Amino acid sequence: MVLSDPEGNRNRVALVTGSTSGIGKAIAEKLASDGFTIADHSRSSVDEGNSLATSHLNATYTQADLSDQEQAKYLIAEVLSKHGRLDVLVNNAGINALIPHGELKEASPDVWRKLYEVNVIAPWVLISESEQALREASNKNQPSCIVNISSHAGVRPKGGSIPYAASKAALNHVTKLLALSLSPAIRVNAIAPGLVDTPMTESRTAAQELWKDKSPMGRGAKPDEIAHTASMLVSSSYLTGEIILSDGG
Ligand code: NAD
Repeated sequence: MVLSDPEGNRNRVALVTGSTSGIGKAIAEKLASDGFTIADHSRSSVDEGNSLATSHLNATYTQADLSDQEQAKYLIAEVLSKHGRLDVLVNNAGINALIPHGELKEASPDVWRKLYEVNVIAPWVLISESEQALREASNKNQPSCIVNISSHAGVRPKGGSIPYAASKAALNHVTKLLALSLSPAIRVNAIAPGLVDTPMTESRTAAQELWKDKSPMGRGAKPDEIAHTASMLVSSSYLTGEIILSDGG
């Protein structure tokens, strides 16, 4: 049970989507240690979600499949009914599809649709459903905040597949557009990680070798290192419209 509240955030609520594993779990842990009350979420791991929620003061867990718009709307309604406010939304949940970039037919319209549903449209629905609550929680000294977890594949011409990279590029551009249209009440930023050591990348040995050999830091990131950047973005009262590349150089 984490009780410290170093930043005076105890009454502030952060929703982290996909918070039962990988980067999302690390971000939820970090924001809880920054004093936030956490709304945990995942698509299916209910036991893990409930147990995570009991480890932080006043935290809650909600299950929702974000490829379904109605469930995305339900997630925000549940969080607001349980906590009464929302200060921070971290759009972390995402999916990948590993398809060689030259295999165009394998990257079928169905693959594109599935990736866009979860990686672009779900964050959009969650943001539009929570806009009013984020505005209500915002004040001049502490604007509300959205952090989108995109990917360096949305910045550089690489990644698990072209549809994945394009979905993350779309999320980056949405980040910049919303930073303009939701300002100054709501800050909107993204983190674009390179390789991160999570369940999503467990089997990607070629990528792990690449990072070891070619990246200046000589390794992929640990989820905690991405969570540190998320905490920095959340604690800022000024940064908006930024895509923070976090790929070890
Ligand atoms: P992960 O597989 O551990 O986590 C993904 C999370 O997304 C899970 O909690 C899952 O429940 C959730 N999710 C997936 N589909 C969902 C759906 N339909 N509805 C609700 N939730 C759903 O992987 P991770 O590596 O921690 O990925 C987190 C984010 O980071 C993703 O957006 C991913 O694209 C991004 N990312 C990861 C890496 C990496 O190397 N691991 C690199 C760049 C970006």
